[in-house]
Amino acid sequence: MTVSGTTRVVGLIGYPVQHSFSPLMHNHAFAEAGLDYVYVAFSVPPERVAAAVAALPALGLAGVNVTIPHKEAVIPHLAGLSRTAELIGAVNTIEVVDGGRLIGHNTDAPGFAAALRRGGVGLAGQRLLLLGAGGAARAVAFQAAVDGCAEIVLCDVAAARATALATEVAGHFAACRTRAIPLAAATLRPALAAATLLINATPVGMHAGDTYPLDFAWLHDRLFVFDLVYNPLETPLLAAARGRGLGASNGLAMLALQGAESFAIWTGRPAPGESMLATLEGHFGAR
Ligand code: NAP
Repeated sequence: MTVSGTTRVVGLIGYPVQHSFSPLMHNHAFAEAGLDYVYVAFSVPPERVAAAVAALPALGLAGVNVTIPHKEAVIPHLAGLSRTAELIGAVNTIEVVDGGRLIGHNTDAPGFAAALRRGGVGLAGQRLLLLGAGGAARAVAFQAAVDGCAEIVLCDVAAARATALATEVAGHFAACRTRAIPLAAATLRPALAAATLLINATPVGMHAGDTYPLDFAWLHDRLFVFDLVYNPLETPLLAAARGRGLGASNGLAMLALQGAESFAIWTGRPAPGESMLATLEGHFGAR
């Protein structure tokens, strides 16, 4: 890759950003697609978010990704939001249009759906048990409702967060039966027995010794298991699911395919999604 006077700049704003895999993944993808773009990580502390966002058109950037802790804080500084970003209430991609207007998108949601499809699974008609009600779970829940899930059952250690998310989703999507349940064996076990799709959108499984709120003995043959965690690539939940012969996917494809959606927004070109995933797999030692 040669950076020259004509190179378009995109990047990431967050705090911290040093450990992001996005520069590696996007710069490989731009080189493969033969596009004169470069992706740079910008460490932006919270008190400088407004100034950083205002500088995007002034510096001629095509757009940026937005990560923790700025996904909500950028919203007041944008001219408009995509429907998904508005529903979720979080932006992970900013697009600079018409030389200066800033549009916020959320590509975690379509990236999640694309990763699930890659595992051969659609969302329409599914009965989803969703662990977690934080930022990632919001993207999963709204995408599941948009794509025609029949039922969403939510739970979280923060019970009020799960109830609030269930109320929001139900308010927008009456056709999708959505409710929150307490995080207890007496409620989780029957919810899992009725589910066709189990998604973990909590950080549980990232660290050795993490305790899951459900017993792996409750897994059953009609389930597909999707874990948003990608480090480690095989969490105890995924190992248990595969051990039972169930279909199961980790979060690496979601990470790659949300990036592919952002790439397409900035460049107007289809992204090399499979090669973006291969870059991440190489980095994580999966190939
Ligand atoms: P978050 O906003 O902190 O949400 C996590 C939620 O899980 C919080 O509400 C948390 O409650 C809850 N929780 C923690 N431990 C729990 C347990 N034992 N049982 C039930 N709920 C529990 O984090 P996030 O941004 O949504 O991320 C969640 C996970 O998804 C992380 O592992 C992240 O790496 C992964 N992720 C992956 C992708 C991808 O592309 N694959 C994208 C986004 C996120 P408290 O706040 O009370 O602890």
